Amino acid sequence: MADLLLTEEEQMLQKMVRDFADRELAPRARETDEKQEFSWENWRGMANLGLMGIGIDAKYGGSGSGGYRQVSIVAEEIARGDAGASVSMLAHLSLGTNTIYRFGNEEQKQRLLPSLASGKGIAAWALTEPGSGSDAAALQTTATERDGTYFLNGSKMFITNAAVAESIVVFATMDRSLGYKGISAFVVARDSPGLQINPLHGKMGMRSSTTDEVVFQDTPVPSNNLLGEQGRGFNYAMEILDSSRIIVAAQCVGIGQSALEAAMRYAQQRETFGKPIAQHQGIQFMLADMATQIYAARVATMHAATLKDNGLPFVEEASMAKLLASEMCVEVSSKAIQVHGGIGYFQEAGVERIFRDARVTTIYEGTSEVQRLLIARQLLAHYPA
Ligand SMILES: Cc1cc2nc3c(=O)[nH]c(=O)nc-3n(C[C@H](O)[C@H](O)[C@H](O)COP(=O)(O)OP(=O)(O)OC[C@H]3O[C@@H](n4cnc5c(N)ncnc54)[C@H](O)[C@@H]3O)c2cc1C
Repeated sequence: MADLLLTEEEQMLQKMVRDFADRELAPRARETDEKQEFSWENWRGMANLGLMGIGIDAKYGGSGSGGYRQVSIVAEEIARGDAGASVSMLAHLSLGTNTIYRFGNEEQKQRLLPSLASGKGIAAWALTEPGSGSDAAALQTTATERDGTYFLNGSKMFITNAAVAESIVVFATMDRSLGYKGISAFVVARDSPGLQINPLHGKMGMRSSTTDEVVFQDTPVPSNNLLGEQGRGFNYAMEILDSSRIIVAAQCVGIGQSALEAAMRYAQQRETFGKPIAQHQGIQFMLADMATQIYAARVATMHAATLKDNGLPFVEEASMAKLLASEMCVEVSSKAIQVHGGIGYFQEAGVERIFRDARVTTIYEGTSEVQRLLIARQLLAHYPA
């Protein structure tokens, strides 16, 4: 099928990542889900393809080219192969590494990015806390300055990649009375004294990625690891989330696509009442709805990415794409189970894993409710009373 959305170069990138995902990620997806631990094999494969430095300048060891369109293409294909691998990549590239790239100074970028952009080192991004997620400005982790060093105290929750990270971008308040204006961003080395990482177990999906609690007890952070300006950390976090939502939307498109493909294969092979179930109109309608929902989410995602890459306003479109795509992939993967009937409820068919992976996407990087709040806020600004 011709793809008018993608340039020739983008189609080549898509093919390279799709081939890799078909060859390496998808065949291991069930095993990595069962093991419930970070898959180094997946990570090294993605790093060897050069995916960990897309959009990062070549002088810091990145690909030197590529914007949100390219990262979206990659995120979709990786998620189609193994959604957990795409979460690890996303937290590393579009959250952690990107925050250092966008807000770090020259010395920090030269010191930290070459390892991250090559995928030798992994980045994590720690905003959420046990008591604050959607209401991120209410975070309680503190940073106190003493003799030119910052000391962190508090804890972060649900942090992707923390247990395997080299660098963790941490948001902490230097003055709670200032609200969000008291928050600053720091890069913390994972081997810092007073830093404890507790991997969280019992996760529903995305089980080839690691999600962890991070505890700071007087953890020293050298002053040259403050990112950007003191008191601007919350603005940096929101800016990063605005654009990262495009990549989450792309991830959701990949998850939906893998569910559709599984349903298509099964519907043409399973027979009831003397013919393949794909010949029953009830099943055809489900498949048609799934494909249409995926198409709409993909177009919305690439449109938001194109706006962003062209320096145009994109925040509302990014929220819409994330909302649409995340709710789509939960629905589409549930329909894929329906198409499979009873066997769809078992591990063997693989679609229950896709459904479990999909489920978190309406929660992280801003829940569906938060996306609706953001979209409504923009709407009210466009249509004043
Ligand atoms: C697998 C996984 C990986 C994650 N990775 C990271 C990571 O790498 N880094 C990181 O910082 N965080 C990460 N998170 C955390 C994630 O971003 C938060 O869980 C998410 O933002 C929701 O916050 P919460 O869990 O505190 O829920 P809450 O904010 O407590 O929300 C609970 C419910 O209330 C609703 N709600 C809250 N406020 C409102 C409102 N004003 N109006 C209407 N409804 C509202 C929410 O939509 C939700 O339904 C991860 C989470 C998971 C599950």
